[in-house]
Amino acid sequence: MNQSDTALAVQPVSFSRFSTWLYCPRRYLYRYILESPEERASGNFVFGSAIHEAFEAFMRSLKDDPLNHEAVVAVFERAMHDEIALNQHHGVPVDWGKKSADEMLAKGAELIDVFLQKVDRHVTVIGTEVPFTVEFADDIVVNGVIDLLLDEGDGRYRVVDLKTSASSLAQDRLEFDLQPTVYLLAAERILAAPGKVDFEFWVLTKAKSPAFRIYPVQRSQAQRAEVLEVIRDVRAAEAAGIFPRQRSYMCFGCEHRDKCDGECRKGA
Ligand code: SF4
Repeated sequence: MNQSDTALAVQPVSFSRFSTWLYCPRRYLYRYILESPEERASGNFVFGSAIHEAFEAFMRSLKDDPLNHEAVVAVFERAMHDEIALNQHHGVPVDWGKKSADEMLAKGAELIDVFLQKVDRHVTVIGTEVPFTVEFADDIVVNGVIDLLLDEGDGRYRVVDLKTSASSLAQDRLEFDLQPTVYLLAAERILAAPGKVDFEFWVLTKAKSPAFRIYPVQRSQAQRAEVLEVIRDVRAAEAAGIFPRQRSYMCFGCEHRDKCDGECRKGA
């Protein structure tokens, strides 16, 4: 069976799907198995999506005529308003937490300012929002989207994932997060460049004084093997109907919190 035959025979799993199970299996149940309606949209998610759209528009523009600050902020504001309008259309309230939508709009413009001051404009952009569907093993096909793919010259490449975060990235995330492992595997395969791809998180922190930091991340061969084991374990847990609640800070922004808490009170 060649690779394209396998990709057709094996149902692809998205990175966001199996990482949802790792963060909270119960949320995975509501989102992917029961397809429960969302009770609320996370304001942080709306904000992060709009920042991503502005980031991508700017990085894409480097190939030709770089957007200026006003144009990037305009993309961000339009994306925020679109997301808010879409949620309104579906009757889903946006939970902004302790901030208002206007404060988040102002924060976004600040973050873009910091980003545009510090970002390297001399990179060679291969693509933004690069989709992939890659066979990792006979029984595992993974799909996802790479935020930014750069050509480093001399047959080397760089994968960048943009994050918006309340604080800097913790060491455990840099050491163990599965996303770099999965994205490195995928990029090496689609570029036919094993061992010649680097990975960086580009992090915009929404602190009082916004910051832009770059975190290079390495992954070993053992970690690459481990991710296959994790995907198989998640698949087995799903088949066995195992979806425990994983209480964490993520509960505050969870789109199924009322359902989850309600079932808890009833002893479900
Ligand atoms: S409220 Fe918390 S435990 Fe419940 S589904 Fe959401 S993230 Fe999981």
